Amino acid sequence: MTLKGQCGIVTGGTRGIGKAIAQRLAQRGVNLVVAARTLPAAQEVAASLSTPDVRVFGMKLDVSNAGEVEQVFEFAREKFGRIDILVNNAGITKDGLLMRMQEDAWDTVIDINLKGVFLCSREAIRDMAKQRYGRIINITSVAAFMGNPGQANYSASKAGIVGFTKTVAREYASRNITVNAVAPGFIETAMTDVLPQHIKEEMKKMIPLGRFGTVDDVAEAVVFLASPEAGYITGHVLHVNGGMYM
Ligand code: NDP
Repeated sequence: MTLKGQCGIVTGGTRGIGKAIAQRLAQRGVNLVVAARTLPAAQEVAASLSTPDVRVFGMKLDVSNAGEVEQVFEFAREKFGRIDILVNNAGITKDGLLMRMQEDAWDTVIDINLKGVFLCSREAIRDMAKQRYGRIINITSVAAFMGNPGQANYSASKAGIVGFTKTVAREYASRNITVNAVAPGFIETAMTDVLPQHIKEEMKKMIPLGRFGTVDDVAEAVVFLASPEAGYITGHVLHVNGGMYM
């Protein structure tokens, strides 16, 4: 795939799925800003991915903070002069059954998972519209489609991303910008490590392919949608879930 020399931003690129996406994009020659709330982790990933041909910068970013989002995009514009790819990957969970869910757990998850996608996409779309090219890939979840007990806030945020993706895809198709979502199923990362073993076993039984996903399963799907070759795909949700939901 012809990604060499392109420029992009990956939010939440310091571990798990986001780190794998940053690795795969950098390996294919994409210059990147890797951004997350923990600056040293972002800098560490950036240092490990930088080569003489590919420039990778680590930045501090809370995607729910409009000022910080603006600063990161300003930085990327200054360094690269263009933004071809935005991967909205940053996301958190704050689980609890509805009756016990605190307002703060609702607000924080919606702010980071959904408002963050809005703020970053709004910045990126300005550059992409001007240059008449862009790829936005939003990481949603199987929970948006199946629901998941204890995740009313999370599944609502991820379902919101789907509506957002389709609307922005329609708004900017005429500018040659595609906007798609990737919906991972159960992927082995820090986010899922915390689940009790018996829940993991129950979940595995629901997966026709009989295994949990890896971060690379998701990253490869993202790289494809980020490539020029995926130029006729927009407003789509690509499910990467081993058949758990179809
Ligand atoms: P991890 O918790 O392993 O990594 C999350 C990343 O996001 C970290 O880099 C974290 O860094 C960053 N992050 C968290 N909050 C913010 C914020 N406010 N601003 C910027 N960066 C932030 O998660 P996963 O890799 O498991 O998940 C990545 C994405 O995939 C998420 O959107 C998640 O909802 C989605 N997903 C994951 C699934 C799974 O099974 N793992 C399944 C379906 C979807 P820091 O804490 O330093 O900010």
